[in-house]
Amino acid sequence: MTKSHDLPRPDLPRPDLPGPEYRFADNIAFDDQWAADFAPIITVNPATNQILAELQAAGPQEINQKLARAKDAQRQWAALTPAERGRKLRRVADLLRAENDALARLESQDTGKPIQETLVVDVASGAECFEYFAAVAATDTGDYVDLGQNAFGYTRREPIGVVAAIGAWNYPLQIACWKSAPALAAGNAVIFKPAELTPLSAIELERIIQRAGLPDGIFTVVQGRAATGQLLIAHQDIGKVSLTGEVGTGKRVMRAAAAGLKRVTLELGGKSPMIIFADADLDDAVSGAMIGNFYSAGEVCSNGTRVYVHDDIRAEFIDRLLTRINRMVIGDPLDPRTQIGAVISPQHHQKIMNYIEAGQRQGAILLCGGGVSLAGELKGGNFVRPCVFDGGHDDMAIAREEIFGPVMTILPFTDESDVIARANNTEFGLAAGVFTRDLARGHRVIAQLRAGTCWINHYNVTPVELPFGGMKLSGIGRENSRLALDHFSEIKSVYVNLSKVDAPY
Ligand code: NDP
Repeated sequence: MTKSHDLPRPDLPRPDLPGPEYRFADNIAFDDQWAADFAPIITVNPATNQILAELQAAGPQEINQKLARAKDAQRQWAALTPAERGRKLRRVADLLRAENDALARLESQDTGKPIQETLVVDVASGAECFEYFAAVAATDTGDYVDLGQNAFGYTRREPIGVVAAIGAWNYPLQIACWKSAPALAAGNAVIFKPAELTPLSAIELERIIQRAGLPDGIFTVVQGRAATGQLLIAHQDIGKVSLTGEVGTGKRVMRAAAAGLKRVTLELGGKSPMIIFADADLDDAVSGAMIGNFYSAGEVCSNGTRVYVHDDIRAEFIDRLLTRINRMVIGDPLDPRTQIGAVISPQHHQKIMNYIEAGQRQGAILLCGGGVSLAGELKGGNFVRPCVFDGGHDDMAIAREEIFGPVMTILPFTDESDVIARANNTEFGLAAGVFTRDLARGHRVIAQLRAGTCWINHYNVTPVELPFGGMKLSGIGRENSRLALDHFSEIKSVYVNLSKVDAPY
């Protein structure tokens, strides 16, 4: 996707050149590409495409400085007891909640998402994550291992050190919180690079973490593009990389991290199935399909965009679905009545439109939706009405590729084992949902779906207590839940001898 550096820009200012204490693994060419890669970042409001802010992209010098501060901060932070760390993380949660409305507004302006979503989800989910990891920090203990009369063993969980966290643009604040709360709880420092399209809320999170009394430098933000991300990953003081992004980016990040055998967590894309059986509560199934396709204008990684509907109920399902879609309000993200805001950029808008055209060209029937131009200030914004395709098949691009927009494809089925095979016939494995009143069938089907995050009779709810993440190309590792702590710590085993050493020499 073309990013903000394609916007008209008067001059390329002097890029941030490396300082004397240059500490990167690879050689870097300081050429025109370098100047473009590290030119300032311009972030715009997707509802108007007017400029919100211009920020400096971080190069080696800034990264070196922030890493030095992070290392100092991490030493102080790891010296606290987990309970002391938990107390301060709890304060971050409280401050996030206290600033909920202002942060939600900022997030809506930077992402184009409706304020009715950001007021109740984006900040709240980040606060819950800090609250949860504040509570579990002190319970993350090691094991005692009985080794007989003359020895015992124990395990210690130790922080990795400094973590590079790299975020996508769809849930910028939530992603920053989901990565940093467990990393900090485990005693690490975090350097966070937000997506260049949504750089603003992470800056506020850094301020809040400082206000909460955590050591200076324990969580810092570097702005930048892929090049800044690559510099961060290559830095010898980074011990782990956690990315949320596309599959292709995941591969590039993993390759870069492999040079230093750094640990990775990858939260990547998906093309998830939702299976609606004939006995499902139809209104609930319609609700699930709408939440799983149109929330955040469809820009959600776990969306259930392949909606398999049993043939017996397909006509009724479509009827109820279209009635409810017709009532949806598209418009100004800051208007509390708006349910569909803007998609992130003109380039992403075009990508969604290309998929809609491809679906029609390949013979699927577009029942509703498509690109729309709104009036007034919103005329320049990137809007797409919720789309529903019927009459397509599993091999079409709209049913195989991640569109990341409000585009649902309805695919009929009649047989349970057949629909399971079709649902699994994808390179992705992020999420899956089943709607049925027969709970035995619900569990039986979910157990056969190759997806990391699943729902029975709901869709896209992601409580912090449950692991979140994908199988196959959708990722490595998990966020949320106690498991996330494992991904941000090393385990050390200690053998303690209680008797004379029996040496054969
Ligand atoms: P991208 O993969 O384009 O970018 C993700 C982040 O990685 C951005 O900060 C980006 O910087 C950075 N980046 C890009 N290339 C590199 C590189 N070579 N080295 C280091 N960093 C790099 O994803 P999007 O921001 O477009 O987000 C959409 C994608 O994210 C979708 O595929 C979606 O499914 C996925 N996603 C997955 C989630 C999950 O939990 N599984 C949740 C949310 C989204 P820059 O922005 O400057 O390009």
